[in-house]
Amino acid sequence: MSGRVLVLGGTAEGRRLTEKLAELPGVEVVYSIAGRVAAPALPTAAQIRVGGFGGVDGLTSYLRDAGIAAVIDATHPYAALMTSAAITGSKAAAVPLLVVRRPGWPETDGDDWHRVPSLAAAAAALGGFGERVFLTTGRSGIAAFAGSDRHWFLLRSIEAPSPPMPARMDVLLERGPFTVEGETALMRGHRIDVVVTKNSGGLLTAAKLVAARHLGLPVLMVDRPPLPPGTPAVATVEDAVAWLTRLVGATDRSCTG
Ligand code: NAP
Repeated sequence: MSGRVLVLGGTAEGRRLTEKLAELPGVEVVYSIAGRVAAPALPTAAQIRVGGFGGVDGLTSYLRDAGIAAVIDATHPYAALMTSAAITGSKAAAVPLLVVRRPGWPETDGDDWHRVPSLAAAAAALGGFGERVFLTTGRSGIAAFAGSDRHWFLLRSIEAPSPPMPARMDVLLERGPFTVEGETALMRGHRIDVVVTKNSGGLLTAAKLVAARHLGLPVLMVDRPPLPPGTPAVATVEDAVAWLTRLVGATDRSCTG
């Protein structure tokens, strides 16, 4: 295969994958982000496209018009709309698709996790866990907590949130990585009673879970949206590079054979 690979990004994996794919001979990478962050981290070795495709139909047209030969969805594990569109759109355009999903964090001894299926369920469950909440679910999820008048929130996000949002809230604008020492001091300093987080996985933001364990704090863990059964998926950037390398080899052999 020689051609263009679309990497759906917005993640550290997406950027790392893009840099590695760009080293493969005959491969040109288009790295796509939603465009919600003012100063996004970007890979250097790719064409960058910014903004939504316009749903499944828009993505299908884009894949055809841009001559995309393979799609790798390296979006965040909770970017379920984009992943669903990638699955349907790549099928419609007859383009091979792979999803890269980093593993979630495992619950370990000493953790006090309470799993909830959604942000709304996390907000509904807060009543049993004290008043002061450390919210690390990103600014886009803050609306789910807007009606929680009895709680005070420390929201940590990369960009400032916009309404609707809780009446009693402090905002910390920060991007990982974070350390266990830093997270412990932050939670102690703000007298946090409970942590609310998505199970994003990865090393950049795992320290909050270790800190919560050390401090004996409960964690409301919002479950990941499941991948539709049968979706081709790998856990690492290296496996995704191997997938594309095999695809390149297979297509080149079929062209010359
Ligand atoms: P989402 O709900 O699945 O996507 C909403 C819409 O945003 C999609 O339908 C699509 O618009 C557009 N979009 C999303 N990812 C895109 C991409 N990589 N390139 C082009 N358009 C994209 O996603 P989300 O949860 O809002 O996340 C948005 C972006 O932030 C993703 O790229 C994700 O990797 C990154 N991110 C998300 C989280 C999280 O917790 N959800 C955390 C860290 C980073 P159209 O329908 O118009 O195509």
